[in-house]
Amino acid sequence: MLLVLLALVPLAGAGWFAALEFREVESARDQADFVAESARELVTLTDLRAGLLDERNWVLASAGAEEIGMSTEAITILTGIAIDTEAAEASARVDALVLALDDPAIAATIAELRRNDEGTISERGQRYVAVEAEIGEQANTVFDDLMDVAGDVPDAAFLLESMRILEWAALARQSVAQALSSYFSAQFSGSNLANAEVRRLIEQAALYDRALTQIRRTANPGSGADLALGELAASSDVVDFRTAIDELALTAMSEASAPQDEDSLAFVLEDVNGVAATFEKGKRSADAHLGLVDAAGEDVVLAGRELGDAAEQATNQAVATIAVLSIASLAFTVALTRFIGRPLQQLAAAAQGLGHGVDQQATTPSGPFEVRAAARALNEASGHLTLAERQATALASGDLDNPALEETAPGSLGVSLQRAVRTLALSMSEREEFRRRLAHEATHDGLTQLPNRKSSLAQLHRGLARTGRTDSSIAVMFIDLDDFKGVNDHFGHPVGDAVLRTVAHRLVTGVREGDHVGRLGGDEFLVIAEPVGGPSEATELAERLLALVGEPIMVGEAVVHIGASIGVALAYDSELTADELLRDADLAVFKAKSEGSARIEFCDEDLRAEMANQADLEHAIREAIAEDQLELFYQPITRATDSSVIGLEALLRWNRPGLGLVPPDDFIPFAERSDLIIEIDRWVIRQVARQLALWAAMFDTAPVPVSINVSGRHLGFDEFTSNVLLPLEEFRIDPAWVVIEVTESSVLDDLGDAAAKLQILRSHGIRVAIDDFGTGYTSLAHLRTLPIDILKIDRSFTGDPDAESLVKLIIDTGHLLGARITAEGIETDAQARQLAALGADELQGYLFGRPCAPVHLTDDRIIALPFAPR
Ligand code: C2E
Ligand code: CA
Ligand code: CA
Repeated sequence: MLLVLLALVPLAGAGWFAALEFREVESARDQADFVAESARELVTLTDLRAGLLDERNWVLASAGAEEIGMSTEAITILTGIAIDTEAAEASARVDALVLALDDPAIAATIAELRRNDEGTISERGQRYVAVEAEIGEQANTVFDDLMDVAGDVPDAAFLLESMRILEWAALARQSVAQALSSYFSAQFSGSNLANAEVRRLIEQAALYDRALTQIRRTANPGSGADLALGELAASSDVVDFRTAIDELALTAMSEASAPQDEDSLAFVLEDVNGVAATFEKGKRSADAHLGLVDAAGEDVVLAGRELGDAAEQATNQAVATIAVLSIASLAFTVALTRFIGRPLQQLAAAAQGLGHGVDQQATTPSGPFEVRAAARALNEASGHLTLAERQATALASGDLDNPALEETAPGSLGVSLQRAVRTLALSMSEREEFRRRLAHEATHDGLTQLPNRKSSLAQLHRGLARTGRTDSSIAVMFIDLDDFKGVNDHFGHPVGDAVLRTVAHRLVTGVREGDHVGRLGGDEFLVIAEPVGGPSEATELAERLLALVGEPIMVGEAVVHIGASIGVALAYDSELTADELLRDADLAVFKAKSEGSARIEFCDEDLRAEMANQADLEHAIREAIAEDQLELFYQPITRATDSSVIGLEALLRWNRPGLGLVPPDDFIPFAERSDLIIEIDRWVIRQVARQLALWAAMFDTAPVPVSINVSGRHLGFDEFTSNVLLPLEEFRIDPAWVVIEVTESSVLDDLGDAAAKLQILRSHGIRVAIDDFGTGYTSLAHLRTLPIDILKIDRSFTGDPDAESLVKLIIDTGHLLGARITAEGIETDAQARQLAALGADELQGYLFGRPCAPVHLTDDRIIALPFAPR
C-alpha cells in the first residue's frame, strides 16, 4: 500500500510538470502570435516610412517644378516622368498602409501633413522627414518590445537573428528611399543644396551597403531574407540604381573643386533621359527592397511560430515522456509490489509461523536481495529454533548423550543457547547423579555400601518369586558377628567401622556370582544365595563365609579377631514370604548364638517347633495380661547400717494356669524380643501405682518407695516417660515413692537418648537406679554422663572374694558421682557385713526377705508396717 502511495508521488509530480509545460506552451504560443503581429506591424511601419519619403519626393518635385515655373505636364514631357501620377500612386500606397496600420494617430498626423502646404519646399520636406522620423520612433518602440519578448524566450537566437535582419532590411529599404529622394534633390536643387544632398546620398549608400552586408552574413541560406537578397542581387534595376548613385557621387566630388553652374535646370536638361531612366530604376529598386522587408518580416513571423511550435513539440514530447514514465512507474510499482510485497508477505507469514512455533523451513528465498537475505536469516533462525527444540527435547527426555546437544548454532544466540544447554545438561546430570546417590543412599548402607535391609528384603522377595517360577531353591543366611560390642569397646568405633567394612568386603568376595550380600544393621549381615542345591551346598557356602570372616583383620596397628554366627533358612517353594524367611534365619542365628560362637544353625523343624512354642508363649503372655494371671511380689531393700526397710522392689510373677508360679527369667527374656515387653512393663507400672495408692489409703501414711524394673527395649521407646508418669498421675502417686531400675546394658544401647529420658523422670522426682551393675561392658567413666541416683551391684559379685577390690572401686566411684549403692543377693550375715564394710548403703537379698505377695509382707512379719523407717 505504502509502496503504491510512494509510486503515486512521481505520478503527481509528472502531472504537475505537465500542467506547467502546458502553461509554457500557452505562453509560447502567445509570444509567437505577438511576434508575428509585431513583425507585420514593423513591416507595415517600414513600408509606411518608405512610402512617406516617396510621397514627399513627388510632392516636393511637383512643388519644385511649380517654383521654377514649369507645369507638371511640361516636366512629364521633358523627363518622361509623370509626376502627378507618381505622386498620386505614392499617396495611394501611403493611404493603404495607414489603413492597414489602423492607427488613428498616424492617420491624423499624415492627413495634417498633406493639408499643410505652407512654407518653402524645404520646410515642407522637413515636415515629411519629421513625420517619417516619428513613425520610425514608433517602429523602434515596436522593435524594442519585440526584442524584450524575444529576450525572454529561450532558444530565441534564430528569432533574434531574423529580427536583426528585419531591422537591417528596413534600414536598407529606408536608405534606398532616402537615396532616391536625395538623388533627385541633388539633380533638381541648386548647387549648394545639391552638395548637401550628395553628402546625404553617400551616407545613405554606406548605410545601405552595411545593412545588406549584415543581412548577407546573417541570413540563413534558404530563408526568405536570403532569397530576397538573391533577387535584389539579380535585379538590374537595383544594381544600376546603386551604380548611378556611385557615379553621381563621383561626379559631384570631381565638380566640387570647379565653380558650380548656378542654373540647375540646365543641368537637368543636360541628360534628362538618363535621369528618367535612373529614376525608373530607383523606383523599382525601392519596390524591390520592399520585398526584402516583407521577406525579413515573414522570416520573423516564421521564427516566432517555430519557437511556438518547438515549445509545443517539446511540451508534447515532455507530456509523452511523462505519460510513458507514469505508465512505467505504475507498472514498476505493480511489479515491485509483486517482487517485494509477495516475498515480504511470505516472509511475514513464515516469521509469524516461526513465532507460533510452526516447524518448517521459513520460505524459499526469492525477491530482492534484502528479502532473500532476510528469508535466509529466517531459515537460519528456524534452523536454530529446530536445533533448540531438538536440544530441549533431548534435555526434557534426559537424553544427555544426544548429539544435538553438542551442536552449536552460529552467532551469540547459538553460543548462549549452547551455554544454556551445557548448564542445563550439567545440572541435569548433577541432579541425575544426586538422584542416583539419593536412591543409592535409600537402598544402600552408608558404611559398607552394601544394599540395606529394605532393598535386601526386596531382593529376597524377587528371588522368592523366581523360585516359585523355576522350582529352584533359595538360601537366606543371617550373619551376626560375635562380640562385636567388645571390638567397639576395646578398639574404639573407627576400628569397629573398619571391621564392618572388611567383613562386608569379604562376604562379597566369598559369595558366588549373582548371590546377594546386604547389611541388616549393626553387626548383622544377610546373604541370599540363589539357587542352592540343598542344605549341604548351603552349609558349604556358610562355612566358607565363616572362615573368611574369621581371618584376622588388620586395622592400622590393631589386629582384630572376630567370629560370626550364621543362621540359615532354606526355601524350596514360594510358600514363605520374604519376611517369614528372614525371621527363620534370625531364629536360627539366635539359636546359633545361644549355643556358642562361630556356629551355623539351620532353621529346621525343631526350631520351627520351638518357634511355634514361642508363638504359643506370646499368646499365653497376652492372655496372662488380659486375664489377670500376673502378680507382683515385693522384696525389701534394707539400710545397711540398721537393716530397716527403706524400700521394696517389685518383681513379676506369672501364675500360669496348670504350671504354677513362673519366674520372670522364664518369660521376660522372651517377651523382650518383641514389643510384648512394653505391655508387661506398662502393666507392672500401673500395678505398682495402684498398690502404692492402696497402701497410702490403708495406712494413711506415705509408704516406702517401690523400685520398678523396666526393660531396655521399653527405654528405647518414645512413649517411655509417659508410660511411667501417666499411671502415677492417675493414682496420684508422689513420684518420690518410685524408683525406676534399668539395666546397665539397656542404657548403653543409646546412652544419650537413655540419659535424656531418665533425666525427665528425675526432674519429676522419680529416682533412677542402674540394675545389675558390673555385668555390662560399661567403663565407670560412662556413669558420669548418666543421671543416676542408685547403683545396684549385681549379685554375682556378692560373696566373691576375688571381686572385692572391684566392688570397692565401684562403690567408691558411685559415691563420687553422688549415687547410693545397693548390694544385691545378700544371703548371709557375712555377705551383709562384708558389703556394708565395703561401703554399700543398702542391702537386698533373701537374708532380709524373699520376694512375696504384698499381703505376706506383714503377715510373715518380713517387715513391720507402716513401712516408713523408724
Ligand atoms: P533382678 O532385677 O536382678 O531382680 C532380683 C532377682 O534376684 C529376683 O529374681 C530376686 O528374686 C532374686 N533374688 C533376690 N535376693 C536374692 C538372693 O539373696 N539370692 C538369690 N539367688 N536371688 C535373689 P526374680 O524375681 O526371679 O527376677 C529375675 C529377674 O527378672 C529380675 O532380676 C529382673 O531382671 C526380671 N524381672 C523381675 N520382675 C520384673 C518386672 O516386673 N519387669 C521386668 N522388666 N523385669 C523383671
Ligand atoms: Ca531389679
Ligand atoms: Ca538385679
